[in-house]
Amino acid sequence: MSKVMKTMDGNTAAAYIAYAFTEVAAIFPITPSSTMPELIDDWAAHGQKNIFGQTVRVTELESEAGAAGAVHGSLQAGALTSTFTASQGLLLMIPNMYKIAGELLPGVFHVTARAVAGHALSIFGDHSDVMAARQTGFALLASSSVQEVMDISAVAHLTAIKSRVPFINFFDGFRTSHEVQKIETIDYADLAKLVDKDAVKEFRNRALNPENPVTRGTAQNPDIFFQAKEASNKFYDAVPDMVNDYMKEMSKLTGREYKPFNYYGAKDADRIIIAIGSITETAREVIDYLTAKGEKVGIVIVHLYRPFSSKYFFDVLPKTVKKIAVLDRTKEPGSVGEPLYLDVKSLFYGKEEQPLIVGGRYGLGSKDTTPAQIFAVYDNLNADEPKNDFTMGIVDDVTFKSLETPAIINVSSPGTVRCKFWGLGSDGTVGANKDAIKIIGDHTDMYAQGYFSYDSKKSGGVTVSHLRFGKSPIRSTYLIDEADFVSLSQQSYVDKYDVVQGLKKGGAFLLNTMWDKDELEAKLPAKYKKYIAEKEINFYTINATKIANDIGLGNRTNMIIQSAFFKLANVIPIEDAVKYLNAAIVKSYGKKGDAIVEMNKAAVDKGITELVKIEIPAEWKNAVEDSSANSGLAVPYTEDEKPEFIKNVAEVMNRQEGDSLPVSTFVGIEDGTFPQGTAAYEKRGIATTVPKWLSENCIQCNQCSFVCPHAVIRPTLLDEAEKANAPEDFVTLKAIGKGLDGLEYRIQISTLDCTGCGNCADICPGKKGNKALVMTPIAEEVEREIPNWKYAIEKVTIKDDLMDKVTVKGSQFCKPYFEFSGACAGCGETAYVKAVNQLYGDRMMIAKATGCSSV
Ligand code: SF4
Ligand code: SF4
Repeated sequence: MSKVMKTMDGNTAAAYIAYAFTEVAAIFPITPSSTMPELIDDWAAHGQKNIFGQTVRVTELESEAGAAGAVHGSLQAGALTSTFTASQGLLLMIPNMYKIAGELLPGVFHVTARAVAGHALSIFGDHSDVMAARQTGFALLASSSVQEVMDISAVAHLTAIKSRVPFINFFDGFRTSHEVQKIETIDYADLAKLVDKDAVKEFRNRALNPENPVTRGTAQNPDIFFQAKEASNKFYDAVPDMVNDYMKEMSKLTGREYKPFNYYGAKDADRIIIAIGSITETAREVIDYLTAKGEKVGIVIVHLYRPFSSKYFFDVLPKTVKKIAVLDRTKEPGSVGEPLYLDVKSLFYGKEEQPLIVGGRYGLGSKDTTPAQIFAVYDNLNADEPKNDFTMGIVDDVTFKSLETPAIINVSSPGTVRCKFWGLGSDGTVGANKDAIKIIGDHTDMYAQGYFSYDSKKSGGVTVSHLRFGKSPIRSTYLIDEADFVSLSQQSYVDKYDVVQGLKKGGAFLLNTMWDKDELEAKLPAKYKKYIAEKEINFYTINATKIANDIGLGNRTNMIIQSAFFKLANVIPIEDAVKYLNAAIVKSYGKKGDAIVEMNKAAVDKGITELVKIEIPAEWKNAVEDSSANSGLAVPYTEDEKPEFIKNVAEVMNRQEGDSLPVSTFVGIEDGTFPQGTAAYEKRGIATTVPKWLSENCIQCNQCSFVCPHAVIRPTLLDEAEKANAPEDFVTLKAIGKGLDGLEYRIQISTLDCTGCGNCADICPGKKGNKALVMTPIAEEVEREIPNWKYAIEKVTIKDDLMDKVTVKGSQFCKPYFEFSGACAGCGETAYVKAVNQLYGDRMMIAKATGCSSV
């Protein structure tokens, strides 16, 4: 069989395998698993066939509980059934999971392991959810990489069918689930050969149907319940051997060796780690580095976690091991140790040879786990009395459990090119990077990896794309800390984030900017200049915003930045890159007409020809910060005006430096309590255009305020004294409307909180066809409006009792308590939340589900 290589993420790999073995999919989407059911649904809609020659029947339920109930019913009816979930979604399925396992039904749940909300919501990855389901009777099978998801997921389906024991097939949410890798796929025909057809037949014969009436799911009294439960032991006893057999088959098929536990490292290791999931890939890089220096280290990689097999564990454990660190990606407060640690300890109970075993926690809520943290674990094992119950990757200055993390050590394969792209959520950067990976992955023999780190603000938040390219498979399951190339697509970010930090000496930095040479000199922060000069960075700029506009692409700058990247990063010859980009353009935009295709091709050309190489003045090495220099988006609060929490916590997080906050920061707010109103200090400045109020066209209808999802636009009423003390530019109109006599009216906009969605300008009726709001470049508005906004908010009283509140106009004179939400630009939901809150004021309690509304 010839190898078919494809570029995909872990969710796609799992969905591909799940589709093969699934007859019915009962689904309810939850981040970060949603891509799996979406793909299954899409493939089913297009008539794709599974290995049985059927199209999967997809049913979306009203919740995860419903989905699990439907899986149960469908399995009982004799259909091989799967579902996909994570986090609280999996927990909602637990009652049905006991039933599915108890009735020996071979369902498979594909889980992108994710944190469970406790003191706070986290949509990110850890093993809290799957560990909370380990008692249900489901077998648990884990993969560490996208390739493993492709290779191992089939073992879950195959063994479920053969053993009758249902499986959770899991991998790390927001790492493996979303990491894009070039991997080898498995042909459905090869999978079909592995299915135990007799077991499928017996499963169908057991189905509840009128031809075969039986009673199942009875109530049992104390006389028999216990014995009947114990009767299923033999099914569980058989699972490890079956998993091992199917893993052998997959190894034959793929050439990659899989076992219930895999060992990697020195054959005579004295110090080892035991862990599950993507951390094991990083650990293997560190092990290569350390064993090359003669250190006797290794790792036992857990694939089959339930049933936990002593036989297969001791089969791979080197006899020479003296010390073991067991790493758990979950926390069980009050326990003497986390689940994997306790399981490993119990394996050695009563054994003559007892290595020293310690346990530690890592990676909760997607905390990045770096090679340096793995070094710290091996170092800890070197100590005479290694620390137990430790944590990695944080600074615990309260209970002092953390291991100290050493400096960055580069352990990736030599020749790997590492690129970072800073962008704004929904500005096209992530999509362009996915295309770049596909181009390199599909057209060259190079391996490619992409990981996209978002904050939870979705559109409008910061995105950092981490791309690696190399000649050998890429195992680095952590963010790039030392880059060859960095691109920044948002000029305003230079004041907020230190994006050049970590760029290697002689690396390339690309800044998309509207600044000319003089403005660059005046506005680029000193820390950038110093770093660029000292590290001899090749610094390029491009005005992609202007180019896109001139070409007719509006604000779609991604194609321009992408071709500039191919020119600068030099991963493949630029002529080839242009050829592939143009082919991709025809494929993506061909149906939209020649004009769109030509515009995008022009963008590719301009991305190369319009690059400007900046000559670095020698004095940049001595640059010192000038407080008057900034990107033009001045922050309207002085340090004295900011609350302590804003300075010490919120702003650190907003600078993307929250990883540096120690545990003591949260003493006193352990229960997740944060002060209110923090978004008011954020002042993201993410809009490229903001509304400008043309008072002469305004009919004072307040519709603009009503539709603004971010509470950025405020109708303001001023009395005589407030008008008299207002700033010079504070234009007002004589207020119109019953009850507003003697007052002045103004539409005030917080330019730095605006997302530029344009909803307000769209809805504005204006006067005689002339809009009273026009979208205008932020640079033209921001300086004038900052003092005006401060005056309107701080010095002008809210006059909410003059008009009927239950009208569009009257409601908008009321204070909105939900301000500046991080929802996507133009969100349809938050305008309602704001309006309801304006109607009911501060005497209102809200109960809500998780998701967008908590971001
Ligand atoms: S552009 Fe959007 S976010 Fe900005 S003021 Fe108008 S409605 Fe609000
Ligand atoms: S929607 Fe237009 S006309 Fe109505 S208040 Fe706003 S700016 Fe004035």
